[in-house]
Amino acid sequence: MMMLLFLLALLAVTVACSFLKTSLTVGTAAFGATLLAFTLAGEPGWLSLTLVWLLFAAAATLLNYLPWRRAFITQPILKTFRKMVPQISETEQVALDAGTVGFEGELFTGRPNWRKLIDQPLPELSMEEQAFLDGPVEELCDMIDEWEFTHYRADLSPQVWDHLKKHKFFGMIIPKSYGGLEFSAIAHRAVLEKVGGMSATAGSVVAVPNSLGPAELLLHYGTDEQKNHYLPRLAAGEDIPCFALTSTTAGSDATSIADYGVVCEGEWEGRKTLGIRLTFEKRYITLAPVATVIGLAFRLYDPDGLLGETEDIGISVALLPRSTPGLDVGRRHFPLNNPFPNGPVRGKDVFVPLDFLLGGTEYAGQGWKMLVESLSVGRAISLPSSTTGGAKLACLATGAYARIRKQFNLPIGRFEGVEEALARIASYTYATSALSRQTASAVDAGEKPAVPGAIGKYHATELSREVLKDAMDIHGGKGIILGPRNYLGRGWQGAPIWITVEGANILTRSMMIFGQGAIRCHPYVLKELEALSIEDEDEQLKEFDRLLFSHIGHSMSCASRSFVLGMSLARFAAVPGDRQTRRYYRKLSRYAASFALMADVAMLTYGGKLKMKEKISGRLGDALSWLYISASMLRRFEYEGRPAADQPIMAWAFHDAIYRIQEALKGVIDNYPIAFARPILRRIVFPLGANERRPNDRLGHKVAALMLSPSETRERLTRGCYTKDREGWVIGNMEALLPDVIAAEPLERRMLKALRAGKISGYTFEEQLDSAVEAKILSVDEKKFLEGVRERVLEIVAVDDFDIRELQAGLSDKGEAIRDAA
Ligand SMILES: Cc1cc2nc3c(=O)[nH]c(=O)nc-3n(C[C@H](O)[C@H](O)[C@H](O)COP(=O)(O)OP(=O)(O)OC[C@H]3O[C@@H](n4cnc5c(N)ncnc54)[C@H](O)[C@@H]3O)c2cc1C
Repeated sequence: MMMLLFLLALLAVTVACSFLKTSLTVGTAAFGATLLAFTLAGEPGWLSLTLVWLLFAAAATLLNYLPWRRAFITQPILKTFRKMVPQISETEQVALDAGTVGFEGELFTGRPNWRKLIDQPLPELSMEEQAFLDGPVEELCDMIDEWEFTHYRADLSPQVWDHLKKHKFFGMIIPKSYGGLEFSAIAHRAVLEKVGGMSATAGSVVAVPNSLGPAELLLHYGTDEQKNHYLPRLAAGEDIPCFALTSTTAGSDATSIADYGVVCEGEWEGRKTLGIRLTFEKRYITLAPVATVIGLAFRLYDPDGLLGETEDIGISVALLPRSTPGLDVGRRHFPLNNPFPNGPVRGKDVFVPLDFLLGGTEYAGQGWKMLVESLSVGRAISLPSSTTGGAKLACLATGAYARIRKQFNLPIGRFEGVEEALARIASYTYATSALSRQTASAVDAGEKPAVPGAIGKYHATELSREVLKDAMDIHGGKGIILGPRNYLGRGWQGAPIWITVEGANILTRSMMIFGQGAIRCHPYVLKELEALSIEDEDEQLKEFDRLLFSHIGHSMSCASRSFVLGMSLARFAAVPGDRQTRRYYRKLSRYAASFALMADVAMLTYGGKLKMKEKISGRLGDALSWLYISASMLRRFEYEGRPAADQPIMAWAFHDAIYRIQEALKGVIDNYPIAFARPILRRIVFPLGANERRPNDRLGHKVAALMLSPSETRERLTRGCYTKDREGWVIGNMEALLPDVIAAEPLERRMLKALRAGKISGYTFEEQLDSAVEAKILSVDEKKFLEGVRERVLEIVAVDDFDIRELQAGLSDKGEAIRDAA
């Protein structure tokens, strides 16, 4: 019994010391003190005590006497570590070097400092940026007719193109000194959210020049001559850019491009010139069919040593004017009925002078680094913002439609089945807009948020697809029948596009989010890897020893925090917030410790093979992402002044996120390859069981109710959407009608009751209204009001129909021929 107590006391000391992250010396002293206490008590017998003291003395000396520790512990581990660590390829090294670490790094510590999150300034729009949104952006929305673009033109209208160029929509990231708008990331986000939400066609056209379009690359790497030539032209819309990386054989594995260029002498504008002969076959290139300048990625070879001694120089980028002889560009792909200009770019033996290399020969071979660095910024803004815009608009529209559309004499939004979908729509919209705001504000804070960019890209596009799916289901046939009255169908068709572009989502989830985060954001792993490159062996051992023991302390701390916070349901964790949000911060603190522990366990178990263990990496990526999204939601809630009315949405989204974190961690443990360790890990991570539940029905009911009537909460959730009550914009018409629909409901109930009681009669609505007036159930004014509302409701729920010729692609020669033959 005493022995058991003794062992328990030692365990408690270990947990307490690692929970408090004490130094090794303090930990050793605490162990010694416990041992002394039992010795003085004369238990558990002198023989056992002598043995334990001897063991303690040996371990304490070995751990605390540094020369021995380094020689007998660290040195063998260092040898194994060298063999175990992944060979970091050049490509991966570039990816690792390309970004910065922001708040996401806190999650890897297992004890996030929440003040770092809360104290981050959330930038506001400047007056100039707000004026742009209220002016040119609103005017652009006035001009958008998505049906016309997608069905009749397969393009934007000329007026829209002119408007975009005139107001410098393509120059949002270009500095004013080059004639651009020089907007903040948060303003860039607001523009894309509004435009991209309303029209995938216009949104894509605006997004590309402001993300990976050559402007970003030019700003960072262009020669002065290139900047002075291209940037003012791009800002003014005189040049339309595109960027061509993807090729037939290289999609996700973009560095394997077979497109190549050979340094050689050739003829350019009648003169012998040193240049590059290029052969390439690119596809899926957005804006290529209309681009006047094409950013081209290819592998550069110098077999004759004209530039130096290296033959395979590596991936490089050149800017080719459309007029370049031999350039084959103009044909279009047709991406799921969203006809933004997108097509192939081909060329065989196209000769261009060396000046066309972006950044000149100095940057030859640096193409991948250039792309990865620029991509992290674009990824943090373009897709998260555009798809959040789509989610917001779908959320607004579906809430209104679910109130306007009645079946079984009730607004469909009152049925529990529809409520479930409405709750998801509102909460995912809340989550995705918090996420996209967080990633954009990281860019404004000067970060290159590689990991948040990947989280933003993946989760904003996935959550928006979920929102659109539910919105489509709630709209029933109204969502399916395409035509000018359909405001959802094209967005729904476009959802897989956003999933695929800028790094397809399966790859982003299973390889990139945790794969990049694990090394980049971990407090020790990158430093340990870097220690391997210290040349002086003694110095290397010293540094590795220091890092190794800090790392072990970190892992033990995460394990004990995970266990203690799990046992106490994190009730005593020191966190900020009020009565409500404190609970949320505590849960996140608990799961951050569990996540950090499982990240270490996975890295230790799999070593370099972890990058191929995509199911584990994907789950850890999910846990990391949902911690990050939850933190973004809390920040949003704080920033908006903790509005009590928004609490149900915040709570639903938060519980859903925590449940996902739990399931992700559970998945990692359930699939852990060492069977005997699984129950131990389960005890540490879920000491009282996996108790998180999905948001309950009552909460879902409250959230859904918030979507069905105008309120500050609904306005905050969908802020920035285009809601003008104009002809052809059904969402604006619905918003304008919604208050009247709500005001009509008591009258309709009165009528229904009278109808059921046989006090009024009539086959049609009009006859029943007349009868109600006669029976003094309704006044004449009330009758008129109901008639007006009814008429407008029928307008809203109407769908389009067509003569078959309007649906035939009759303008093409092939369409004409097929029709004639028939
Ligand atoms: C409409 C549209 C616009 C585009 N615009 C541009 C543009 O402007 N410029 C440009 O250069 N490119 C552009 N792209 C290309 C886009 O970036 C690629 O489509 C994308 O990188 C995926 O390549 P892929 O389609 O060849 O798919 P593949 O690489 O063939 O991948 C197929 C599937 O396999 C998965 N996969 C592949 N490898 C792995 C892995 N290791 N682990 C897990 N899953 C994996 C992917 O996630 C995907 O789901 C565009 C594409 C589209 C469709």
